[in-house]
Amino acid sequence: MNIVITGANRGLGYELTLAAAQRGHKIIAGIRSPQEAGKMGELVSRFPGQIEAVQLDVCDEESIARLAETLQAERKQVDAVINNAGILLGRGVAIEELPIEDVIRSFEVNLFGPMMVIKHLLPLMEGGDSRSVLNISSEAGSISNAYGGDFPYAISKTAINMFSKQLKRYVKDRGIRVYAIHPGWIKTDMGGDRAPGDPAESANGIIDILEMKKEVDSESFFVNYKGEPMPI
Ligand code: NDP
Repeated sequence: MNIVITGANRGLGYELTLAAAQRGHKIIAGIRSPQEAGKMGELVSRFPGQIEAVQLDVCDEESIARLAETLQAERKQVDAVINNAGILLGRGVAIEELPIEDVIRSFEVNLFGPMMVIKHLLPLMEGGDSRSVLNISSEAGSISNAYGGDFPYAISKTAINMFSKQLKRYVKDRGIRVYAIHPGWIKTDMGGDRAPGDPAESANGIIDILEMKKEVDSESFFVNYKGEPMPI
């Protein structure tokens, strides 16, 4: 499978790239600043010919269009897109104090980014038997479990859930699966050290969903990394 993963240089994106490479897939690893790619360089050499690290800022439509053009020119089919890049701004900030720029930026990265990625990569997903779009969301985006905090992040994740459902309906007849996925509270820069979850376990669960090794209700659009439905 050819898999595009955004925000691949650290955290869950890195673990997704590692898990997918270990299972023999080819990964186009989107990295915002390749000069700060960190451990990704080592991963590229560890899996020769399997991981291609490309410059990709999900807020820069030109960088996304450039990637799509390159893949098109190389006649590379995209089997799966994992919209993983995300930011959490304004954690614990009261609405009375909230800089509205944090809301705008959160929507830019967590919603507009994935939408632009799909806008440019969907045409490369025609054909093939098992194609999927996995949008990494969060339980914070659940409307029924809204906890009254982290406004920019939570609301942008609710929006990516809606985008996922909309897209699922939009591509229904093309046989492309679409899910918004809660990866669990995991130890990454975003999740922090107190997080109980292991990002490698979460990443392997998500790749299982991609490989259809887990049964996931086809009507659900918001699930966790084990494929279980999440409260909307
Ligand atoms: P991290 O903060 O550890 O990593 C975030 C990644 O996103 C980095 O690779 C970062 O790149 C990238 N990124 C940020 N902005 C952009 C951009 N404009 N363009 C491209 N890449 C960008 O987060 P996690 O790994 O923990 O999170 C991954 C996903 O999982 C996110 O969508 C997050 O919301 C979700 N999630 C995480 C949870 C957790 O407990 N950790 C819980 C629920 C959901 P750079 O290094 O250049 O900044």
